[in-house]
This record gives sequence, structure tokens and C-alpha cells, in this order.
Amino acid sequence: MTLPIEQLQEQGREDTHDHAHRARRPQAVSRNIKDRTLAELAEWFATQGEPPFRARQVFQWLYQRGATDFEQMTNLAKPLRRLLAEHFELGALGRARVLRSADGSLKYAFALADGREVESVLMPNATHHTLCVSTQVGCAMGCDFCMTGRMGLVRNLTPGEIVGQVVEAARDVDEGKFIRNVVFMGMGEPLHNYRALVKAIDILREDMGFGFSARRVTVSTSGLVPQLRWFAQDRVRAQLAISLNATTDAVRSRLMPVNRRWNIAALLEACREFPVEHRSRITFEYILIQGVTDDLADARRLVKLLHGLKCKVNLIPFNATPDSAYQAPPLEHVQAFQQALLERGLLATVRLSKGQDIQAACGQLVVGERRRPLPGRHPAT
Ligand code: SF4
Repeated sequence: MTLPIEQLQEQGREDTHDHAHRARRPQAVSRNIKDRTLAELAEWFATQGEPPFRARQVFQWLYQRGATDFEQMTNLAKPLRRLLAEHFELGALGRARVLRSADGSLKYAFALADGREVESVLMPNATHHTLCVSTQVGCAMGCDFCMTGRMGLVRNLTPGEIVGQVVEAARDVDEGKFIRNVVFMGMGEPLHNYRALVKAIDILREDMGFGFSARRVTVSTSGLVPQLRWFAQDRVRAQLAISLNATTDAVRSRLMPVNRRWNIAALLEACREFPVEHRSRITFEYILIQGVTDDLADARRLVKLLHGLKCKVNLIPFNATPDSAYQAPPLEHVQAFQQALLERGLLATVRLSKGQDIQAACGQLVVGERRRPLPGRHPAT
């Protein structure tokens, strides 16, 4: 179920109170080796009387060489490989469905160990790829325009399940190319799964693993203000994107219930306090929905709201589905909106949706599949 806004408030208070201690809170022991940071794996090797460089070797096998079996880790002695297999699992994700778009995008529904599914989208470029990953099964935020929001929150992903999406998608990247960007814009609100998110970023950025630079990892939030402040205080090395999507509280609260708890002013205040690194900008995502958010008056308000922020705006024409209540804007509205921002000195790009022919918008593949009657079974409700 989608969390009522009162519970989101409670979550904010509880987690804020917990902030100083959250890093030290004991975690349930996981058998998924991809749930471990390099330091944690080195600690485990130390308990086995092994030197720290064993952890680096394992990271290379997991993330640079895509090992699918501990037996492949041939620079570790056989008894050590057996020991790893006794203590850990590789946490491989299943491929429930993979759809390929005419534009080369790949959309995955990855199967988790408990049978749940999450989506990732691999978007190709001439020299590199961008991967959009999920952080939760479903989402509690209930955004009105989003298929995932209709699922409600089912559960958080573990760090290994987040990292595992990158591992699996990397297997489909052609020789000589690589995944350069990871964007946390798939199913779920990343900051609502804060601990796992931060750990997954730590693992992804590790030189002995994928080695993503801070500029190539982007976290997109709907606006959980307390967690946004943790993100700043913890100096998490990643880019920040804000899913803004409206210029008045009335419209934003209608589209995004989170706005009823932390409104536009509160969100932008947290953004103004956010430490933006040299040569970086906060990205504000703005979905253009015909007759709802695509008026030129919105463009003018947006310029005023973002005045003084080191930022850019990413305009996203709404990707309408057959049963969505909203419509995509005409191309001329998109162009006029962008032009209005540019004329007023606001950097603005238009993100043309990739993979429209394969249901690439967040939640469409998993939620759409759940709604489709399965042979011999009742339709999911
Ligand atoms: S848009 Fe993002 S935050 Fe909103 S319901 Fe969908 S997944 Fe959750």
C-alpha cells in the first residue's frame, strides 16, 4: 500500500532522530556477497586470517569480470573459494523479461530471490551507456503520474540487489563500451531506502569494482527533505536530481503527495543548503503534462523559483500510457517551454524518452505485467 502522508511524516521524524546512530546500527547478516562494501569484505577476510587484498581480488571478480561462480576466482586458493561458497551467495538476479527497443534501449524486469521483480533500463550512446536502476519494489510516494506509485511500497532493495542490476546489465554491453552513468531513477524513492542507497553507491564507486566517478552517479528524489539533508551532511559522492514537476504547491501536491509534507519552499530551501561541487549542478526534472504543467506561466514561475540555484532543468514530456489520466504535451508546447527558460538564462534540456516502444517509463513493465492475466490464473488486481 501507498503510505499515507502521516506515516511519511512519522518516518521523517523517526529517521531524523536515528540519524546520528544509523551508521552503527547492527545490520542483519546477509549471505549476498554483493551486500558488502570492500571494507566489510576485508573485515570478513580478517576474521578468517586472510589479508585485506583478498577483498580487492573478490571485488575485481564480482564487478570487473562478472564472475558467476566462486570457482572462477582462480587467483584464490581452492580452500578459500570453498570457504566463500559456504558463507556467501553471489546474489545473481534472474531475467524475468528483457525487452529491446528500436532505439537500442534494453528494459529489464529482474527477478529477486523472493520472486519480486524490479526494473532497470539500459540506454545506449555512441561510446557509453546509461543505466537507470531501482531501489525499492514499488514505492510509497504515490505520485499520480507514475505506474510504480500505484503499486505502493512492497519492500526495500538491499545494496546487493541494487548493485546486482548494474552487474547484470553490464553483461549486455558490447566489447569496447561500458556503463558510464548510473541514475537512481527507477522504481522507488532512493532516499526512502537511505542506508542501502549509500552503501550501494559506496560499492559502485569502489576502484576495485566498477569505479564510477561521483559525477557519473545521480540520485533523483521526489523531495524527502530530512533525508536530503542527511545526503548533504554525509557528503555522499553523487549528483543530485530533484523531481520537481510543478511550480505551485496546489499542482505539485496533487501530482506528488510528498509535497503536502514538504512543500516547494521547504524543498528548495534544502536545495539551497546543499553543497554543490565545483563544475556540478543540481538537476531539476520537470515533467511536462498537457494542460497541467506545460503552461508558459509555469515556465516563468520556474525561473523565479530556481533563481540563484546552481542548477539545470531537464524537461521530460509525459510518456502517456493507454490508461493514464494525463496526456503528453504537443511538441510546440515543449519547445516553447524550453525556449522560455533559456531566454531567461535557465539552462534547460529536453529529455526525449528512450524505449517508448518497450514501456520504458518507470513501473510500466512490472506493473503492466502484473495487471495482465496470466494463463490459467486470475488477473492481478
Ligand atoms: S515517480 Fe518516483 S517517487 Fe514518485 S511514485 Fe514513482 S517511483 Fe515513487
